[in-house]
Amino acid sequence: MSVPLPTDGTRWRCTLCGNLTRFDVTRQAKVVEYVHLDLAGEPKVEEREVLSESIESVRCRWCNAVDQIELVDRPGANA
Ligand SMILES: [Zn+2]
Repeated sequence: MSVPLPTDGTRWRCTLCGNLTRFDVTRQAKVVEYVHLDLAGEPKVEEREVLSESIESVRCRWCNAVDQIELVDRPGANA
């Protein structure tokens, strides 16, 4: 995987422009949804359980760089 996953003590940072806060994340996930339909047939998802997920790519919203992501410490993180 080319994108490192953030942890409790780290966060993403775009290596090109330094963006820390805005990314487009393409994620593949297998999800079980509890769908509750009302009497009119309108569906509403009331619970979601993620069975598995993986991040395919992360694009910076500022400079559009794809997968140019590094992990940096979060502010105040000890880890
Ligand atoms: Zn960027």
